[in-house]
Amino acid sequence: MDRSAYKGKAVIFLADGMADEPLAELGNRTPLEAVDTPWMDRIAKRGASGTFLSLPDGFPTSSDAANMSVLGYSLAQFYPGRGPIEATAQGIELGKDDIAWRCNLIYEKDGILKDYSAGHVPNEVSSGLMKALQERFGNDKVSFYPGVSYRNLLVLHGKEFSANIDYAKPDSSQDEPVSELGLKALDNTPEAAHTVAFLNKIMAESAPFLEGHPLNRGREVPANRIWPWSPGRRPSFPSFSEKYGGKTGAVISAVDVIFGIARCAGMDMIRVPGATGFIDTNYEGKAQAALKALEDHDLVYLHVEAIDECSHLGDLKLKMRAISEFENRIVAPVMSALEGCGVTFAILPDHPVPLHQRKHTRTPVPVAICGDHIVPDSVCVYSETEAPKGSLGQMKGDEFIRKVLNLK
Ligand SMILES: [Zn+2]
Repeated sequence: MDRSAYKGKAVIFLADGMADEPLAELGNRTPLEAVDTPWMDRIAKRGASGTFLSLPDGFPTSSDAANMSVLGYSLAQFYPGRGPIEATAQGIELGKDDIAWRCNLIYEKDGILKDYSAGHVPNEVSSGLMKALQERFGNDKVSFYPGVSYRNLLVLHGKEFSANIDYAKPDSSQDEPVSELGLKALDNTPEAAHTVAFLNKIMAESAPFLEGHPLNRGREVPANRIWPWSPGRRPSFPSFSEKYGGKTGAVISAVDVIFGIARCAGMDMIRVPGATGFIDTNYEGKAQAALKALEDHDLVYLHVEAIDECSHLGDLKLKMRAISEFENRIVAPVMSALEGCGVTFAILPDHPVPLHQRKHTRTPVPVAICGDHIVPDSVCVYSETEAPKGSLGQMKGDEFIRKVLNLK
């Protein structure tokens, strides 16, 4: 493609969960600051920096909400819950009385939620277990759907159910007693009470079934419980194009929740073979897919999940390695291939995952944007410490995405 045809197009590098806090063992630097990231720094040096409030109060601190915010969708107006977003990603048509739940396969031991991912349960095990659950427990009131690894779905059918239920987010509840993490009705309706009772019964009955299932045999961290959370009804968003003056967008990711947002927003979803959502992902494949997608889209949203997963593991070395892989195998090849093409680049995480907390926080994330329409400021390094000193200030709502797309 003629290099001039890229002018004004944009790539957002979305490093899931990258932002952190200064750590004593790194001499009071953050993991991002301790890794050599010349290409990310180049965005800050050539462009402008700031922060972005992706997780305003009153909404879950989850990646779906955070990524919707980055794309400029108001959570107050449009956030449907994670279940419906992932159902949309999978092409599951929700009826008007359906309520979709994210349904993790987790590992519980002695009443403690030991692992929200059941040891990053492999797809062949998780999909087999979800199919077995559907055969054993599925009926006209409840359906089970396999997703990717521990990220699966459960849909309740019928007017007798409610989505107004409080839940514990499993990756924020590691090592806590399951008895304190139960579903709770958020109102006094019979529907809410019935929903809690119905799901508690299935969770209890499916536990011994999963525990004894042949697919769990010999697994040190068996997927021995289901964990339903973040319910909601059929989503309806305005499309990305209608919201942003006809601009087109493509999303590259490994995880259903990001594809779900893409589909809700009418953006193209690009699946890359070997994209795993973990540190062993196909970086080169994703970088190449981004370059290809930019040929026929105005914006490419290039999401990498690995850093988030390493942060949840609380593993500093692994997090730093994931940041380094992102720099060297995603940001570097994409930026160097498009050198001199007039493409706008932006870098940000969707939310922080501080290693010592191992959960998402609402702290505004560091942002850097460079492009022909961006007036450079004095910040030269992309980091949690430097970004707040930049000229973009603290952005919120759709300010970040409009800046990237050069829209007022
Ligand atoms: Zn995230």
